[in-house]
Amino acid sequence: MESTPARTSTRLDSFVDRYAARTSGMTASEIRALFAVASRPEVVSLAGGMPNISGLPLDVVGDAIGNLVAEHGAVAMQYGSGQGVPFLREQITDVMRLEGIEAHPDDVVVTVGSQQAVDLVTRIFCDPGDVVICEAPSYVGALGVFRAYQADVVHAEMDAQGLVPEALEQAIASCKRAGRKIKFLYTIPNFHNPAGVTLSAERRTRIIEICRREGVLVLEDNPYGLLGFDEAPMRAMRADDPDNVIYLGSFSKTFAPGFRVGWALCPPPVREKMVLAQESATLCPPQFSQMAVSAYLSNHDWQGQIKQFREMYRERRDAMISSLADLMPAGTHWNVPDGGFYVWLTLPDGVDAKAMLPRAVTARVAYVPGTAFFADGFGSRSMRLSFCYPTPERIREGVRRLAGVVEAELEL
Ligand code: PMP
Repeated sequence: MESTPARTSTRLDSFVDRYAARTSGMTASEIRALFAVASRPEVVSLAGGMPNISGLPLDVVGDAIGNLVAEHGAVAMQYGSGQGVPFLREQITDVMRLEGIEAHPDDVVVTVGSQQAVDLVTRIFCDPGDVVICEAPSYVGALGVFRAYQADVVHAEMDAQGLVPEALEQAIASCKRAGRKIKFLYTIPNFHNPAGVTLSAERRTRIIEICRREGVLVLEDNPYGLLGFDEAPMRAMRADDPDNVIYLGSFSKTFAPGFRVGWALCPPPVREKMVLAQESATLCPPQFSQMAVSAYLSNHDWQGQIKQFREMYRERRDAMISSLADLMPAGTHWNVPDGGFYVWLTLPDGVDAKAMLPRAVTARVAYVPGTAFFADGFGSRSMRLSFCYPTPERIREGVRRLAGVVEAELEL
């Protein structure tokens, strides 16, 4: 389907004095600005994190949707509960059991993707000037939410084992010394976006302890947890501290993002506030999408489908890692993710990923500069490379082009 080109305003914005103060933090993400360029067919995009859903059985999904309309259309096309479809909430507890979570469906709130769950949690907890502690780097879409609610992000360092507990303790201590209110720790423990790393089991325990001791709520954002390449899924932090962890999940990566179905699992008092916030935001999450996802879970081997996704993404990860090893100039470093979609790459000293981007696009390869993932301007030597969408051949071609651009920068 052809889309109509966006109509951009060329005139000065006459509403500029009337917007709420919070809009000053709402800037276009570097990723969104890249999309137009990166989606040109001649560009190999290692930028966007779009799941590759080409392996989904469209006939099965189509039948499920046809049956949904024929058999339950009157309910599926109606308004529904602000908390989400009860049967889907039950199925969601089955999904979370794979990560060691024993939950009651009453504590699940269905959201419009986990993105909306981040928004609702921030809406109910953050006043302007409150602190959210985030890993350094962190998910660009969550940073955008925190900015929109005028919360201040304080970053805590990560290494190959994920968030560093001592760095978290220091961040908490310095916020407390400065009399700042910390509302929660936002963490992506599995196959981090953008860093690609996974929080070790030992650190999960320590971070849970630190947060509990310091009275800091944990927001565990976990859209990639079932997309590990080798091991069984890791135990969620929520499994070990149901009272102090809000867990966010999503069907975007394990099924399809277009349905926009995610969820939050919350301690009961928080859940009540979340439902109120959801009702004021949307009245109810889309009934049709929820019932379509529910039908898919009921009638399809969804775990087998996830296994296929994992195998496809693993092959692409391997293609990216071996191409980087073969082609990148000395002084370039990257990690090897055990799951998910992303590699975090650091360029040789003196090369700036953001400044280099226009030259990379001219060389027909795109990535996201590291600065997008920091609230404080750090990350200029780094970039996020996504291996989820292009084929292994395209990945190799993209890395070949990227290596050429980096080499040319070194000669400048
Ligand atoms: N959290 C993280 C870490 C993500 O990477 C994404 C998607 N890129 C989301 C949340 C939002 O996903 P969705 O709204 O599609 O569930």
